[in-house]
Amino acid sequence: FMTVSSFHVLNQDHVYGRGYVWRDITKEHEVDSLKNDLISLASHEFKTPITGIKGSVETLLRTDADWEESFKQELLEGIHEDIGRIQQLIEDWLDISKIEAGAMRVNREPTRIQSIVRNAIKRLPNADEHWLEIDASLEDRLPLVYADKTRLEQVFVNLFTNAIRYNDRQPLVRVSAESDDTYVHIRVTDNGTGIHADHLEHIFDRFYRVDLSSSRRTSGTGLGLAICKGIMDSHGGQLRVESIEGEGSTFIVSIPQYNPKEDDTL
Ligand code: ADP
Repeated sequence: FMTVSSFHVLNQDHVYGRGYVWRDITKEHEVDSLKNDLISLASHEFKTPITGIKGSVETLLRTDADWEESFKQELLEGIHEDIGRIQQLIEDWLDISKIEAGAMRVNREPTRIQSIVRNAIKRLPNADEHWLEIDASLEDRLPLVYADKTRLEQVFVNLFTNAIRYNDRQPLVRVSAESDDTYVHIRVTDNGTGIHADHLEHIFDRFYRVDLSSSRRTSGTGLGLAICKGIMDSHGGQLRVESIEGEGSTFIVSIPQYNPKEDDTL
């Protein structure tokens, strides 16, 4: 879409010329729709934790009540959780805005993918549980990848979190690796709910969530996978999915290998 608008060139008070500006408004439409999406995200997603915090603080502030320590502790933990949720929303919001503006910066360096996967696992709340199976292929001598450690870690944290969250069974997540001439491919396979073929092509779209009845799963924003995809795109890598509903899903993260000849001259 293009729009054209005419304008007058003014020299003090005198019109002495006329010009035209052609603008590509496709991008502007996208930005507008992102803004609208974010406004509706804000009104829905921010309201709940803020209302929770307000209620808890009001309770704690009541001078006429003599709350038990354990009750106060419970309220504080709730506040802490709600603040975490707001922080996550803001971070996701900033990330998706950067991605949509084509301004996601990645600081790439030669790095071992094994350490990125391990660090991601450490950041998960239930890291010590037996839901994880690391395939021997991840212990192999894999080529170095050329990646932003923090960003790539974020991708794996997101994939592991989803693998555990969208799962009605005892979660089991298997991580394996393989490489070809250009990439290291990491496969994250879960035994979760799986994703119906109709949804598969959309799950990387921002705000897209497969309709879920279970209320414990309503806390997501539908931004996670869009951000992961954006991060992989900005690495010149890929993020793909294979899934069978009712059986499980495999997310395949393909990261460019470190190539000293090319990468060091950049
Ligand atoms: P969110 O988790 O906040 O909803 P995501 O972008 O991470 O957002 O995921 C989008 C949707 O894709 C989720 O709502 C869920 O329906 C589906 N999904 C993502 N990962 C998995 C998975 N491992 N197994 C089943 N469904 C998944």
